[in-house]
Amino acid sequence: MKLATKFIHAGTEPDASTGAIMTPIYQTSTFVQSAPGVHKGYDYSRAGNPTRAALEAAYAKIENGKFGLAFSSGVAATDAVIKLLEPGDEVIASNDMYGGTYRLFTKIFQKFGIVFHFVDMKDANNIIPFINQNTKLIWTETPTNPLMNIIDIEATAFIAKQHNILLCVDNTFASPYLQNPLQLGADIVMHSATKYLGGHSDVIQGCLVMNDEALREKLFFIQKSSGAVPGPQDCFLVLRGIKTLHVRMQRHCENGEKIAHFLYHHPKVEKVYWCGFENHPGYEIAKKQMRGFGGMMSFTLKDDSIDNAIRVLTATKLFALAESLGGVESLINHPATMTHASIPKEERLKNGLTDSLIRLSVGIEDADDLIDDLKNAIG
Ligand SMILES: *Cc1c(COP(=O)(O)O)cnc(C)c1O
Repeated sequence: MKLATKFIHAGTEPDASTGAIMTPIYQTSTFVQSAPGVHKGYDYSRAGNPTRAALEAAYAKIENGKFGLAFSSGVAATDAVIKLLEPGDEVIASNDMYGGTYRLFTKIFQKFGIVFHFVDMKDANNIIPFINQNTKLIWTETPTNPLMNIIDIEATAFIAKQHNILLCVDNTFASPYLQNPLQLGADIVMHSATKYLGGHSDVIQGCLVMNDEALREKLFFIQKSSGAVPGPQDCFLVLRGIKTLHVRMQRHCENGEKIAHFLYHHPKVEKVYWCGFENHPGYEIAKKQMRGFGGMMSFTLKDDSIDNAIRVLTATKLFALAESLGGVESLINHPATMTHASIPKEERLKNGLTDSLIRLSVGIEDADDLIDDLKNAIG
């Protein structure tokens, strides 16, 4: 099945009792049983709910996986993966990733005895020296947030398999329209569905997709036992969002390309981070593992003072100054003080995340209007 058809039909069947074409919002906490333990597949909505089940089936389909699990946020999905581990286990994680993931690892799980190594994964071989018999998980994200580095999923999966280590890929930035990590050898795909999957900045949600049934059972047990599940209304919103993922992503990619080139040629812009440039160090890998380059990018200004960055950040009219990404509307963000403020400054600077870096989530408005907005703001 081609992508467009898959995104529209994934996981949704007409409602068996009424024929409703849209999955009903089963706004219920519990389900009546005809005798103790005798029910129609659902007993309590933390363990399972029909609206969530439709969405979980959709998650599996759109990532070409067997099983999907929905969580109340992207961070809750990540939290569930780390709960597979035991004290003393070690994780090798990318040194350039979502700030909230870094915070969860270092501020919550480190104190339970899980050891995290943050490694530059642009060259997958950099992982090898950190592997020992305690290494249980490799956690990566590509393109990375906010520096748009590309990690070779296939090469990373190869190393993970050789050493019998699980590989989880945060696929939020690419979305399943652009990239499918399971097919490149990853064991688990994680999404913040808050972003491109929901697509309309109206819901917080996360998911995991996997092929291995034993792994699914363990993660389902964590989902139900720890309880970070989304409500049925939120599941409905993401189901609806997924139906237009392909058309939105096409426009995100088109607008992204136009804006990246506009910035690239702007005399006041120092550097543009976007993986669709042929001179981007990860370009060849991006071309190999992605179907397009998306609408996320970052840039720095020649006048690299924090004041100048803030001047631009507050001067745009269409690009709204806000955290998050992947919605239909364009957003502008200052990673150093907003999305990545939870990473210590020395760590940030070591990885090239400077105070003047500006991140854009290019929406699906008219590209000319967006370019005019940036032109006026940069001055
Ligand atoms: C937003 C985001 C997350 C966290 O997801 P929430 O839904 O906000 O909990 C994780 N990874 C990436 C890449 C993100 O952009």
